Amino acid sequence: MAEPPGVAPGDADLSNAGLFERACAVLPGGVNSPVRAFGAVGGTPYFVAGGQGAHVWDVEGNRYIDYVQSYGPGILGHAPAAVINAVAAAAAQGTSFGAPTEAEVRLANEMCARVRGLEMLRLVSSGTEAAMSAVRLARGATGRNKIVKFAGCYHGHSDSLLAAGGSGVANQGLSGCDGVTPGAVADTVVAPYNVVPDIDADTAAVLVEPVAANMGLVAPAPGFLEGLRAACDRAGALLVFDEVITGFRLARGGATEFYGVRPDLWCFGKVIGGGLPVGAFGGSRALMGHLAPLGGVYQAGTLSGNPLATAAGLATLEALDGSAYEHLEATAVTLAAGLEEAFGAARVDAVVPRVGSLLGLFFGSETPRNFDEANASVASGLYAPFFQAMLRRGVALAPGPYEAIFVSLAHSASDIDATVAAATEAAAELA
Ligand SMILES: *Cc1c(COP(=O)(O)O)cnc(C)c1O
Repeated sequence: MAEPPGVAPGDADLSNAGLFERACAVLPGGVNSPVRAFGAVGGTPYFVAGGQGAHVWDVEGNRYIDYVQSYGPGILGHAPAAVINAVAAAAAQGTSFGAPTEAEVRLANEMCARVRGLEMLRLVSSGTEAAMSAVRLARGATGRNKIVKFAGCYHGHSDSLLAAGGSGVANQGLSGCDGVTPGAVADTVVAPYNVVPDIDADTAAVLVEPVAANMGLVAPAPGFLEGLRAACDRAGALLVFDEVITGFRLARGGATEFYGVRPDLWCFGKVIGGGLPVGAFGGSRALMGHLAPLGGVYQAGTLSGNPLATAAGLATLEALDGSAYEHLEATAVTLAAGLEEAFGAARVDAVVPRVGSLLGLFFGSETPRNFDEANASVASGLYAPFFQAMLRRGVALAPGPYEAIFVSLAHSASDIDATVAAATEAAAELA
């Protein structure tokens, strides 16, 4: 298998353990985002030297079939030529101006063309910013304070949205977060996923991941999203879909198209940045009119709409036509079936929920419907040994049980076969 350019496998100066030690001296926990630290699975992280398509190579020259894919942005796989060329061409013209550029307009047009009801948006630099700003906009537009979120849904790390967040927060075993004041979460109500909560007249917004992908993968129960839409309408609250993972991944028009339920506001990130730092939030022209400079809700960013990020996002979306989604889903279907067969053969109770191309993995015989049930599966303790058994066989899953499995357009039939073969051995090891 060809090495990606620039990777020198076996460089004696570089080992994963050595790099992790150096990293821990200057970066808290050795990482710049907690889930990367392998706290939930044990051992030290592999340090990536490069990636190509479905694969990453670590600094020791080990190759992995990668299902992390940057936790979602890598929908085309690593280093796709179209994105690299677009970023290089943009970089040659300058990396940031503090003045508007055409690419921002083009990316916004492309997104609005794909998502029904999305008329205007603002580009930001992360999903965290998108969700935080959407909440501010919802409060500003409604004149109400309260927000409702669902346990196990992750909306980034802003103060008011960390309560019962999934993903890395759950991996750390944190129920909340030190440094967040009671005041910051006083207006946050946390409800169980898949049950339509009572929404009162003080509620500005209900935020939901239309497919929960930060507590493993939990699909919305039939009627849940429709029920939220109706409850918000009755109460005059805004429904916010956090489509940072589902956007432009579940379908061309994201979860909105996939489920046929239209929120008032959307949050995006991950896929729309093609691997560069991007987020966006948007909605109707009327709602977005509350945002400065048109209205009184302030929000800003030095690097918002950054030329490299918009170039990467546009190149990514251009590659995502209808056939891309069929291909992604077919890959996910094959992988899910293969994994289920692997666990079945080893008589290990596990379920592999799938929505479109998004996959999850839970140990146990029941498919979790909410955070409590997801936590019960995680308590089996089987994810860590399975993760390690897969990693030893050259398959990189996320180093934590609350993350989704991300397939990309670059995962080939032989990658999937190799993954299933590894899983068959790994499952037998668990049994
Ligand atoms: C990743 C994620 C975020 C946060 O995005 P960042 O770019 O990491 O700040 C928000 N919401 C959801 C659903 C996510 O998966």
